[in-house]
Amino acid sequence: MSTQNLPGLPELSIGNIYCIGRNYVDHVHELRSDLPEKPLVFLKPLGTIIFDGDTVRLPKQSTNVHHEVEFVVAIGKTGKNISKTQALDHVAGYGVGIDITARDIQAKAKEKSHPWTVAKGFDTFAPISSFVRWDKINDPQEVDLEIKVNGITRQSESTRLMIFPVAELIHYLSTIFTLQPGDLIFTGTPQGVSPLKSGDEIKASMNNDQASLSVTVK
Ligand code: MG
Repeated sequence: MSTQNLPGLPELSIGNIYCIGRNYVDHVHELRSDLPEKPLVFLKPLGTIIFDGDTVRLPKQSTNVHHEVEFVVAIGKTGKNISKTQALDHVAGYGVGIDITARDIQAKAKEKSHPWTVAKGFDTFAPISSFVRWDKINDPQEVDLEIKVNGITRQSESTRLMIFPVAELIHYLSTIFTLQPGDLIFTGTPQGVSPLKSGDEIKASMNNDQASLSVTVK
């Protein structure tokens, strides 16, 4: 696959796509999962990335595909074992994304303690907005996220409710992986996930359209 520049921060080409599961208490409860003691990490392949105006393709293998609106962090500086106090210095910018999930495939994987890669990894399963530079966001833990499907709000929550805040996620991930410029971190979804069907028009936004993303489902 050719490199893809990050919209809004074109000096970055999109690298690894790290994702955090179970990072909002109410969402953990709606899926009847256990609260994590440390961040739950998974990855998405590059083919999941699509942009504003693109189309989410529902895969034949699933009959229950959900939206998960998420605050997304773009890394701007290489780092390993980054301290919590220095973590935000490694951020290039922020955007909004949707962690599209084949919930039925994920449920089976959970039952068998199998990885989530298939449930989370189909092509087009990670739409992202254009990103805003880090200094446009005063506090990454005070960002409002919203997603509407066909004009109806399905999820609306503040990043204040994250279990593990952005600085802690960067610190934790960097104890395992060397974070690189262009790496993205999907920071988990609040409550309100629900199924998508062909023809749906999705709009995700943060801070009343400071960044936003519209995609169609087919
Ligand atoms: Mg998610």
